Amino acid sequence: MGSEGKNFKKEIVFYADLLDRKGLVNTLEGNISILDREKDELYITPSGIRKCFLNEDMIAVMKGDKQTGGSAKRSSEYLLHVAALKARPDCNAVVHVHAPYLTAYAYCGKSIKLKCSTTFSLVFEEIPCLPYGEAGTIHIADGIEDAIKDHDLILLGNHGCVAVGKTMEDAVKIVEAAEEVLKIYHLTKSIGEVKNIPDEKLESLYENHPSSRRNRYKK
Ligand code: 13P
Ligand code: ZN
Repeated sequence: MGSEGKNFKKEIVFYADLLDRKGLVNTLEGNISILDREKDELYITPSGIRKCFLNEDMIAVMKGDKQTGGSAKRSSEYLLHVAALKARPDCNAVVHVHAPYLTAYAYCGKSIKLKCSTTFSLVFEEIPCLPYGEAGTIHIADGIEDAIKDHDLILLGNHGCVAVGKTMEDAVKIVEAAEEVLKIYHLTKSIGEVKNIPDEKLESLYENHPSSRRNRYKK
C-alpha cells in the first residue's frame, strides 16, 4: 500500500494518548513522529500540549524545516527525530520520552547493561547513553546518528531517551519493555541480591535465539 492509504495522524493521536495514560509523556515531556518516506513528510506531535488532548488537526506536518500542516506548532525537538530517521532508513517511527526509570540513568549519564533479565538481553543487550546535548537546538541530536545505527533505544544524557521502530507500535513496545524491566530491576534490588544469567548462557542466548538483537540485525 502506498502512503496515501495510511492515516499517520490517527496513529500518532492513538499512541500519544496511550503513552500519556501510561505516564510516559505529559504536557512538557515527550514527542512522537512518523515519517512518510514516499513524500518525505514528517508527522509529529505539537509542542507543549498534553498528549491526551491531541486531535488529528493538531499534528504537525514537516517538510524539511518548514511546517506545512497542523494547527499547533511542531515539537521543539523535531531535529532529534529527523536525525534518528536519517540514520535508520529501516525505521519510520520515533518515540522520545522522559520515562522515569530510563531517564534516571540518563540523569546519571550511565549506559544500561543488565544481565538479570531475558527480555533486556534479547531486546537490547545494552542501552547506550549519549552526553548532554542542548535541548531546543541542533545539539540535541549530537552523536545520535552513530549511536542509533545499531541500537533501537538510546539514552540522551540529562534528558530522556529516544527509540526508533519500523512502525510506531515497534518503537513504543521497546520503550514500554525497557521501562518495565528497569522498574522490576529496582524492585528486585529492594528484595535481595540480583542474580545474573551466567555470561556463557547470555552469549548463547545472543547467538542462538531467533529474536535476539544480534540476529535481528543480521537480517
Ligand atoms: P515538545 O513539547 O516541544 O515536544 O518538547 C517536549 C520535550 O520532550 C522537552 O524535552
Ligand atoms: Zn525531551
